[in-house]
Amino acid sequence: MQEKIVMKFGGTSIESEDLIERVVSIIKEKYERDIGLVVVVSAFSGTTDNLIEISDFVRDNKRKKAIELVEEVEKRYIEVAKNVIKKENIREEVFDELDSRINELKTFVKNVDSVKERELDFFMSFGERLSAPIISGALCDEGVSSSPLTGKEAGVLTNDIYGDARPLDESEKKIRETLSPLIEEEVPIVTGFIGSSKEGDITTLGRGGSDYTASIIGEAIKADEIWIWTDVSGVLTCDPSIMSNAKPLKSISYREALELSYFGADVLHPKSIEPAIENNIPVIVKNTYNPSAEGTKIVKEEEKIKGVVKGISIEDNVALLNVSGIGMLGKPGVAANILDYLANENINVKMISTGSCEPTISILIDERELEKANDLLKKDLGASVIEEVCYEKDVAAISVVGAGMAGTPGVAGRVFSTMGNSEVNIKMISQGSSEFNISFVIKEKDVEESVKALHSEFGLENI
Ligand code: ADP
Ligand code: ASP
Ligand code: MG
Repeated sequence: MQEKIVMKFGGTSIESEDLIERVVSIIKEKYERDIGLVVVVSAFSGTTDNLIEISDFVRDNKRKKAIELVEEVEKRYIEVAKNVIKKENIREEVFDELDSRINELKTFVKNVDSVKERELDFFMSFGERLSAPIISGALCDEGVSSSPLTGKEAGVLTNDIYGDARPLDESEKKIRETLSPLIEEEVPIVTGFIGSSKEGDITTLGRGGSDYTASIIGEAIKADEIWIWTDVSGVLTCDPSIMSNAKPLKSISYREALELSYFGADVLHPKSIEPAIENNIPVIVKNTYNPSAEGTKIVKEEEKIKGVVKGISIEDNVALLNVSGIGMLGKPGVAANILDYLANENINVKMISTGSCEPTISILIDERELEKANDLLKKDLGASVIEEVCYEKDVAAISVVGAGMAGTPGVAGRVFSTMGNSEVNIKMISQGSSEFNISFVIKEKDVEESVKALHSEFGLENI
């Protein structure tokens, strides 16, 4: 076997009969050329949200509604499986697997006492556990040897931070020992997004985490490349739902990809870059709907381009927490204490800024963590120098990214005069130490106008 590739197919790449046929032919072509392949699949798009909804129904004791939604999910997967798997014996095997997964989910819905983070991860795992047997069955139907594996079966062992788990050191060896011999014989289809704690409980790697699974596996089997198949032709200059003329980037560096994905470019999970960087594995982003399009190659080399900026990303699932108190003025350690509090609760701070003359610290966090963070900081009111905690939810962070920004004077000036000309008020600014990006926070209502103006200012439609 000359070459090893990990390929990940996202939810919008596998959710219908036509798409699965394309996916099968992409895999088959590589398999027939004797390339060692591990395939990672997500749930069909929308399923993970459905499963969260099911868990909410259960939490509110609306179990009948929960079962109805389970049956909707079941119907969708059965319908697709029926259409893509023609051979009777393979079909039966896949249907048995789907049946047993759905029964497991229904039993859980009926019997679980309370839904906390651990149970939520269990609920969320079912999408990938339903899609993997279908893709594997569709491959077998086309004469490609294949079997489905859960993250646990593939050796993805994680810590027990439910909803945001990370692999344990020993996982790498386990994955290698499981998958390396397997790819000599067949194409294993591994569930993305899910792993297992040491105690054997299902964990998840964070929303969009199938990309992370792909790079964890890529690192473990020492893959030559990691291919991320999605519904757009690569990493684009901007979110295409905001800029319809966003252009695919031929090549970007790991650090540029990291900056873009960390601040909202959903096309890649930010954590998926780390294993690739450490092992210098190129990541290629390709379009399942248009496989002949070149896509984007993400590599170590940092190429500076004439226009300096390569992309703009938008993160709108964020909230701004403002912490103030007159006693904070000039008092050392206040920001450190706040960051400590939040870190102890596993709340990630995306940006922080402190006022130089006003006694205020502003912190940008994931909107889903707002309630927890707000309660945590308010607990200390009065007992510390913090006098007031307030928040804003209708904000977004914009990041302007490009390796050429480092050492090129005037980029920040251009960014902020573009914002000024659009009469957009900036609430917070941060420039990473790499000088690869300038990020700032604005009102959500100003996003579209700002991004369009910046895209045009840096000539990204002609890149
Ligand atoms: P998948 O199901 O394949 O994992 P995702 O929805 O997670 O797909 O990510 C792909 C989506 O990311 C695209 O459809 C696009 O709407 C969005 N996106 C946001 N910013 C960018 C960007 N800069 N480049 C490409 N896609 C982006
Ligand atoms: N299915 C999971 C999600 O929707 C993981 C993924 O799609 O990558 O977040
Ligand atoms: Mg994704």
